[in-house]
Amino acid sequence: MGNITLTMVKPTAVEKGYTGKILEKITAGGFRIQAMKMFRMSKADAEKFYEVHKERPFYGELTAFMSSGPIVAAVLEKENAVKDYRKLIGATNPKDAEEGTIRKLYATDIQANAVHGSDSDENAEIEASFFFSKRERFNKDGNII
Ligand code: GDP
Repeated sequence: MGNITLTMVKPTAVEKGYTGKILEKITAGGFRIQAMKMFRMSKADAEKFYEVHKERPFYGELTAFMSSGPIVAAVLEKENAVKDYRKLIGATNPKDAEEGTIRKLYATDIQANAVHGSDSDENAEIEASFFFSKRERFNKDGNII
């Protein structure tokens, strides 16, 4: 199993001021932050990031939403990071998310569902490289990865 996942605090959650509370849940969940930045994606950036979803009916709406304001992107490190983070964030639709999960607590609806989390180790590496260079990622000793 890989040991990183890529998260974004999505625009609505950033705007509502939930970033700090979400980061607190993340660190309390045992994840270490390797890299982090606030960033506003262009429409083209969002289309590239979500390219795997381009055939889905909500692709246009989703990429417009994700480029509508700043997001906070972070690379999170933990053993079994992808699987454990998806458990911490809860189901895609906050209505189905378990109590205490990030999406249950901070999502607005299925699209503005508070946070992104990678769905595989392979995509975690691709998504981490989308936002961060190697020089922006740090190991636990504070050195460049
Ligand atoms: P995730 O891995 O849990 O984020 O879910 P998916 O990979 O299936 O979808 C990616 C993102 O698309 C979700 O996090 C939502 O922001 C959005 N999304 C998923 N399903 C829908 C939908 O039915 N309608 C809309 N508008 N957005 C959706």
